Amino acid sequence: MSKPLVIALSKGRILKETLPLLAAAGIEPTESLSESRKLLFDTTLDDVKLIVIRATDVPTYVQLGAADIGVAGKDVLLENGAKGLYEPLDLNISRCRLMTAGVSGKAPGTSRRRVATKFVHIAKRYYASMGIQAEIIKLYGAMELAPLMDLADEIVDIVDTGNTLKANGMEPRELIADISTRLVVNKASMTMQHQRLKPLIKRLAQAVEARREGQEESA
Ligand code: AMP
Repeated sequence: MSKPLVIALSKGRILKETLPLLAAAGIEPTESLSESRKLLFDTTLDDVKLIVIRATDVPTYVQLGAADIGVAGKDVLLENGAKGLYEPLDLNISRCRLMTAGVSGKAPGTSRRRVATKFVHIAKRYYASMGIQAEIIKLYGAMELAPLMDLADEIVDIVDTGNTLKANGMEPRELIADISTRLVVNKASMTMQHQRLKPLIKRLAQAVEARREGQEESA
């Protein structure tokens, strides 16, 4: 049998929403992902395997061809660059916004702005494009704390409901990008495995459409 297709999935919040789409496209893991410590899973299709990895590692696996396909947030793709990747499908899940935010009611000063974020590249590009001088401070989590502790004037972070910001006395300011989860494909796989990938991407696109229609009906 030919080499199995490998799909790299992002752990965490995205995974929960990805699995029903994969199932609708006929791909289901043969054991529960959450109850296992394994990272590599067989599926109901003999020639498709799943790996479950950190979201930020998904582009690397797909760029280097260790996985043929990946599921990753647009935030991760914007931050890591998407060289060597095709992005054929917006899965339309885990939607959120990448925004700047600061302490409520405290307008940013005119001098060089200190910005705490884990999205260093996105932040650098954004502030440069706005002509704002910014010192970017890399953090790995709990960005909301940085302005409260006067480590930074502003943060760049993901906002969904805005509750996390509010709970920390902060407000969203400028929208940098609307984010959703994307299907990415290794460029060489897209050519070499086209016969296998094309129907799979088509089934996923149909699953995305069916989900959208279902949501419209229940709205
Ligand atoms: P919220 O309080 O609903 O605005 O959610 C904000 C927090 O949840 C952020 O700090 C993010 O880390 C996380 N979050 C919300 N939506 C997403 C998403 N689609 N992808 C990754 N992280 C998210």
